[in-house]
Amino acid sequence: MSILISEIFGPTIQGEGSLIGRATVFVRTGGCDFRCDFCDTLYAVLPQHKGDWTPRSPAEIVGEVEKLSGGHPILITLSGGNPALQPLQPLLDLGHSRGHNFALETQASRAQNWFSQLDFLILSPKPPSSRMEFRAEKLRECLDAAQNGPQISLKVVVFDEADYAFARRVHALHPEIPFYLSVGNPSPQNGAEADANDLARRLEWLLDRAARDGWFGATILPQLHVLLWGNKRGV
Ligand code: SF4
Repeated sequence: MSILISEIFGPTIQGEGSLIGRATVFVRTGGCDFRCDFCDTLYAVLPQHKGDWTPRSPAEIVGEVEKLSGGHPILITLSGGNPALQPLQPLLDLGHSRGHNFALETQASRAQNWFSQLDFLILSPKPPSSRMEFRAEKLRECLDAAQNGPQISLKVVVFDEADYAFARRVHALHPEIPFYLSVGNPSPQNGAEADANDLARRLEWLLDRAARDGWFGATILPQLHVLLWGNKRGV
């Protein structure tokens, strides 16, 4: 069964959330059921880019990953788009048999029974600034599908006060799950270069905002890849 691939690149580092700094190869699938206002990977979302997406077999994907990793086992990050829309079970089976680990990041809109086969599951519900609807029952379904399987974490990107309030609400729903906040990067939407000073100010605001509330249950991080490489694609 083939998987729709937008791009495969690395090794690079995971730039945010619970695996920040970890060496990984990214496998980005094509297609998404969301249209977030702040999306920075529209080339893996919008149908007009479909011509750039290639159906690839699990063996072809693992082969490409191993070419990039020099044959060494590595963490494979499944990203998108929404990778949960793809038939990934055979890829997980093959990759694991070759010694690789898998992390999958999704907005938690679609649960799959193979979530339990992942090593890491990063659920990233989208905040109000995405203009997408959050459905708590879909998040619950994803958590149920992953039961007794991967290390699970929650991650919310925060641009403003409404996003911050949303993040607190999601954390309160599942306080037992490690929770990460990512500082939003507005530059892709503005068509501008990433501004490290602006990102530092946003991080400071978020740290201060959480501290004022006495909310110390979340890990607050910048997007490391943006600080290092700006909005450059494929790094
Ligand atoms: S869920 Fe992710 S990939 Fe899909 S539109 Fe939103 S930000 Fe983009």
